[in-house]
Amino acid sequence: DRSARAGTTAGWEIAELTAAFNEMAEHVAGTERQRRELTSDISHELRNPLNTIRGWLIAAHDGVADLDPELVSSLLAETALLHRLVDDLRDLALADAGELRLEPVELNLADLLRHVAATGSGRVTVQAPPRLLLVADPIRIRQAVGNLVANAERYTPPDGSITVRARRVESVVVIDVADTGPGIAAADLPHVFDRFWRADKSRNRRTGGTGLGLAVVRKLAEAHGGTVSAVSTPGAGSTFTLRLPAAKEPA
Ligand code: ADP
Repeated sequence: DRSARAGTTAGWEIAELTAAFNEMAEHVAGTERQRRELTSDISHELRNPLNTIRGWLIAAHDGVADLDPELVSSLLAETALLHRLVDDLRDLALADAGELRLEPVELNLADLLRHVAATGSGRVTVQAPPRLLLVADPIRIRQAVGNLVANAERYTPPDGSITVRARRVESVVVIDVADTGPGIAAADLPHVFDRFWRADKSRNRRTGGTGLGLAVVRKLAEAHGGTVSAVSTPGAGSTFTLRLPAAKEPA
């Protein structure tokens, strides 16, 4: 029975989310006020997709809307957004608790970056030396670079371009994700890595993002002993930079 199955999935997601949130609330550094704000942000972010899904399902149930394929696709997109929210909240909760377990291996960054670029819209260019070794968790590095590329895709108009550049500078691997999008105002730049922070423009417009992508990138970079930072020229574009400790060259 379809509706029962949907109910179970939603139940599982809510349970997962509650667990993630409780864990985060316990461990997140900050004041009681910040904790209350975070709770309120999370419920706000959940309410939009849940209301959309619930509203259409009620309408279909009451026979006043048809679940045509187009509507089903858009409801699936809403559940995908809820899913990403839950996953991001879980990763942040784990990172807050110091329990983000990495499985580092030696990997060649050029291959990984090409893999990430291939999941994009086809306008992502990769510039990397053919052999650039890194000891890191490939799943987590793909996630971090993937979030930066997803943002570049989300905020850059279709005629813009996105470049992923990697190089080694002494003992650090530097990965730039540069776009020719709208850029970020200087006053906003310090906030972009905060949880649920969005520039007004992206706040008003549904972008499909969770508002947690950059907060997750920062945690993943830090878990690897690295950093992430951003520079931007409003009207010209933004560059996000990951810096990660390089693998030692064999003697
Ligand atoms: P979101 O899901 O809203 O993209 P993020 O944490 O990934 O959340 O990003 C936070 C905010 O930073 C975005 O809402 C947007 O305002 C801004 N931002 C992030 N990446 C870019 C970019 N490449 N160009 C312009 N603005 C960006």
